[in-house]
Amino acid sequence: MRLTVLLLVMLVGVWLWRSNRPTRSEFVRREAESSPQAVEMVGCRQCSVHVALVDAVQGSKGLYCCLDHRQQAEP
Ligand SMILES: [Zn+2]
Repeated sequence: MRLTVLLLVMLVGVWLWRSNRPTRSEFVRREAESSPQAVEMVGCRQCSVHVALVDAVQGSKGLYCCLDHRQQAEP
């Protein structure tokens, strides 16, 4: 009888331990949240300097690093 109770307690303990562990999908999600997002870089048509896509200036012929270079390339 004591052995059965001991076995039951161990089973409940293992079940609690396993249910508190993060699942693989939670682990992957936490890794994705903690790592910085990749920033897409584009080259300027005028000077070839690479800038982040969000900072690039859109012209009719392409993307530029700044307004000056867009005006130089597209007068
Ligand atoms: Zn430029």
